[in-house]
Amino acid sequence: MNTEVKLNGQKKVSLKGFTLNELKDYFFSIGENRFRGEQVFIWFYKHLIDSYDEMKNIPKNLQVQLSESTVSINTLKLISTMSSKETGTTKYLFETKDGYKIESVVIPEVKRTTLCISTQVGCPLDCKFCATGLMGYSKNLSAGEIFDQYKLAAKEYTKSNIKNIVYMGMGEPLLNYDETLKSLKIFAEDLIPELSLKRIIVSTVGIAPKIIELANSGLRVKLAFSLHSCFEDIRSKLIPINKKYSLRENLDAIRYYTKKTQTKITFEYLMLSGINDRKEDLRELVKLCNSLPSKINVIPFNSLDHMNPGGFSAELQPSSKKRIYEFVNALKDQNINVRVRHTTGEDIAAACGQLAIPQ
Ligand code: SF4
Repeated sequence: MNTEVKLNGQKKVSLKGFTLNELKDYFFSIGENRFRGEQVFIWFYKHLIDSYDEMKNIPKNLQVQLSESTVSINTLKLISTMSSKETGTTKYLFETKDGYKIESVVIPEVKRTTLCISTQVGCPLDCKFCATGLMGYSKNLSAGEIFDQYKLAAKEYTKSNIKNIVYMGMGEPLLNYDETLKSLKIFAEDLIPELSLKRIIVSTVGIAPKIIELANSGLRVKLAFSLHSCFEDIRSKLIPINKKYSLRENLDAIRYYTKKTQTKITFEYLMLSGINDRKEDLRELVKLCNSLPSKINVIPFNSLDHMNPGGFSAELQPSSKKRIYEFVNALKDQNINVRVRHTTGEDIAAACGQLAIPQ
């Protein structure tokens, strides 16, 4: 990601999205002490400031120099919010500096509040159950744009409440690997004690080489894998990228990931009538879960009607509540760690797989 942006013919650096080490290096490169990097890190990512003149411990002349030589601290503008009357789930619509729209969702729960963030504008992967896939792909978000979804939602929502972050909004995080990793490094820093990697989940449909790379990154972030079927042919119909990175290749990468990071993998499993809720699906799922440290999130399928889907997407139907109940109980009987993720925000198209905006 290019961190230099041309404004009025002048090259300006975009510091928002720099990790702690990058900020220290930057200040060293402009003849300042490296500790300025730590101070600015805290102002950016802990105090969530909007302008350099709020940085009380930075000398005035440096504040002026920074505001003249760098791009604005805010990478996103909040356009609107929409809240579900039923659940309090709130969807945020943001605009990037180059005019793209993205969405993030805050999901309030009794003991914790979760923020679901996006990593791309749209998505190129065209998963058949996902509204984002149906809207196509425009660009990768920068680490600053990924972080600022937290910043703006936290400011709106009161910072202390957002303790959990899931990379499950628009886009495939591992297709925007470098910026996703930088944003994770920012959230992981002890200088922001409100947040911790223990409370962050990155969700992927399976980009096997990047799963290995993430395992080797040293960040012990929790990984969720959009499984949705244990059969290669069915999975390829639902998730076309499965033809390139097969389930088998992904499961090998996941095995490596769980060993290397000593974490459990969460399998996301969307319940689709007649497609992945049959006896043979149950049998294979049990086999898979017994073969590695894992748990399953069963997700009721949310309607894509707001996107007027065609083709295979239009054929997808949710499993009945009764079938979900039977399926989950059968998994529990086999001592599989499973929970049903309750759908929230469907009335504002903010539920799982529903995020999409015409650009
Ligand atoms: S499910 Fe994820 S990877 Fe698939 S199209 Fe939607 S956003 Fe992209």
